[in-house]
Amino acid sequence: MALSEFGLIGHFFGQHTRKKPTTLLGIGDDCALLQIPAGYELAITTDTMVENVHFLANTAPEHLGHKLLAVNLSDLASMGAKPLSVTLALTLPSVNESWLAAFSQGFFKLANQLEVDLVGGDTTKGPLAFTVQALGLVPHGQALRRNAAQVGDWVYVTGPLGSAGLGLKIAQGNCPYDSDALARFHCPMPQVAIGQALRGIANACIDISDGLLADLGHILRQSQVGACLQWEAMPFIPAVQTYIHETKDWLMPLTAGDDYELCFTINPANASQVPAGCHKIGVIEAASGLRINKAGNIFPLEMKGFEHFSP
Ligand SMILES: [Mg+2]
Repeated sequence: MALSEFGLIGHFFGQHTRKKPTTLLGIGDDCALLQIPAGYELAITTDTMVENVHFLANTAPEHLGHKLLAVNLSDLASMGAKPLSVTLALTLPSVNESWLAAFSQGFFKLANQLEVDLVGGDTTKGPLAFTVQALGLVPHGQALRRNAAQVGDWVYVTGPLGSAGLGLKIAQGNCPYDSDALARFHCPMPQVAIGQALRGIANACIDISDGLLADLGHILRQSQVGACLQWEAMPFIPAVQTYIHETKDWLMPLTAGDDYELCFTINPANASQVPAGCHKIGVIEAASGLRINKAGNIFPLEMKGFEHFSP
């Protein structure tokens, strides 16, 4: 890319930078400089989105900008961290001004809403792909981990399951249109407030990026426990209920990715402190593996969801 093209990218991303007190130096030098307040740990995560792998080629750029940031902030939420700042790496086949304007609009709308500074980035020419690295703060020793679920804990999710999975089918032209499912697929909202509220209450937490069964499976394996879920307690949006009723595909909402709700486990003694709107969907058990009670019958479940590079 020519220098002027880099200048164009700077125009879209450099000007919007917020300036939090913790951002000592933002975009413009070789590195950003951040102040880490005393008593806090830095939570760091990174996620890449590649065309035709993580998003469909016809996805609106404002949705891409939103979702790229949302999926990274969701990882901070799952650890109970408060978002601090992000860096952004863009790989673009060409510089398209209106595309960049829409992408940055989607990105900064969410960044401003959740008070996240963009403090650096990189631009290269190539097949469409984006990477965000997100930094968050969590009080010393209070991060929510995957490895601390206890036998007897109750299992919760923060919101409906399978909405994004249905949204993907709609976007691919395989299901009747539903605006709620499509919006949840294109513009998931990371549960950053609930993640922070769960510090000191939840024993284990993860965000549901690859499907409930796969992500809860990570908690179960790392905590060396099992779980039994209750089908009738699962929260679904009406369109997903209709989909299940018509297709009998009841595993879709449990295995589809991209919902970005949180799944967490708590000691039942803390149940009264669980934020409003969360749903209890099961119990942690000593017997390994994952099971579901559906109309009184217990079925074993594979702890699998969306996986890259799987055959
Ligand atoms: Mg995650």
